[in-house]
Amino acid sequence: MKINSIKGMHDLFSFQTQNWKQIENLLHNFFEIHGYGEIRTPMIEKAELFNRVIGDETDIVNKEMYSWKDQGGDILALRPELTAPSVRSYIEHNMDKLNKVTKLYYLGPAFRRERPQKGRQRQFYQYGIEAIGSEHPEQDAEVISMAYNIFNMLGVENLELVINSVGSKETKKKYSTILKEYLSSHIGDLSDISRERYSKNPLRILDSKSKEEQSIIKEAPSILESLNDYEKKHFDQVQRFLDKLNIPYTIDHRLVRGLDYYTLTTFEIRTQSIGSQDALCGGGRYNNLIEQLGGKPVPAIGFAAGMERLMMALNLDKQTKASKIDVFIISAGDDAITNSLKICDTLRNQLGIKVMMDFTRGSFKSQMRQANKLNAEYAIILGEEEIKRKVGVIKTMSSGDQFEVPLDTIHKHFDVERVKDDQ
Ligand code: AMP
Repeated sequence: MKINSIKGMHDLFSFQTQNWKQIENLLHNFFEIHGYGEIRTPMIEKAELFNRVIGDETDIVNKEMYSWKDQGGDILALRPELTAPSVRSYIEHNMDKLNKVTKLYYLGPAFRRERPQKGRQRQFYQYGIEAIGSEHPEQDAEVISMAYNIFNMLGVENLELVINSVGSKETKKKYSTILKEYLSSHIGDLSDISRERYSKNPLRILDSKSKEEQSIIKEAPSILESLNDYEKKHFDQVQRFLDKLNIPYTIDHRLVRGLDYYTLTTFEIRTQSIGSQDALCGGGRYNNLIEQLGGKPVPAIGFAAGMERLMMALNLDKQTKASKIDVFIISAGDDAITNSLKICDTLRNQLGIKVMMDFTRGSFKSQMRQANKLNAEYAIILGEEEIKRKVGVIKTMSSGDQFEVPLDTIHKHFDVERVKDDQ
């Protein structure tokens, strides 16, 4: 019986990885020019890291995390996100001693046992940044504008940037009481999940996607009314900087986001172009997290975004025509095969040309079909007759033009630099 991949976990084929690599290169370059350095953390961490960072009450930890007891008795987990590992590494390696502000970026797989659907996998790739060390609003503006500019630069349409401020831990607490008071008269209309959240973490009710609850939430008092003077000023300045940078945004006081660690600024970028799972990116400040995890009280802000959703938004997740190869070598007979191997080696390793040859020992016709299918620009034909005369035929596939050249100098016809010099 054949074995298939795990539900919600997908193979990426070469027509996809080609596009992925292009976008990945662009992202690496984008982050580097902003002064962010790449961090690659292990795929597996102690489960406790995520329990403490993301919170036991969240769906991610409670229901979706892949965790198990390993042979040594440790409870381990596949990372459901990459902020916690990045912060763990920052503290473990005393990065605060190297620079006042540490700027990290990452790109790699994350795992959540969610219900798979379009734009939602159980293994997905996240890219994101963490700016650790500055509490000031200009840092928020840099991070938000970077998140926005990636999509804008790549031409993603219908972008919607939503921002909010949830204040400090104390403000959240104060607001929770106000929210509970408001919701108490609607308790009968809330879902079971929301009723459970009402007692444990009422702010999360604001995340609800249900239509009935949305209409209740719409009328709820705004968290922005609960911000203290510092928090208000911080949020005002973030907006002022975004205005100066011409980054369009809307404010939504209901954007508290699922994770417990956020303080002050939260934001999300969405697009209607990719269906119901419309969140391209989410982020915010987490000023208490590093201290909570045993580090110094260092403020930080970051975002995480999904690669699959980005590729969907760019329409790069579909099958496209095979990319071109430069040369395909058609051969017949043992001597021709030896020569094919040798020519491939020279063209690839001395000239960096993309060359393929036949490995099926097929007929001339079937090898020519391969050359066409692979979109080859040229074919080199090494028939028994040619080999006897120590020549090869170079054929331009588009025009059908062909000419003979001596076998031992065949590679020179593909040496672009030499050809240029000769002209
Ligand atoms: P989060 O860590 O939940 O804030 O997610 C950040 C971003 O990662 C989202 O905006 C999505 O683009 C992406 N993402 C989160 N979960 C998934 C998933 N299960 N499948 C695909 N992309 C995801």
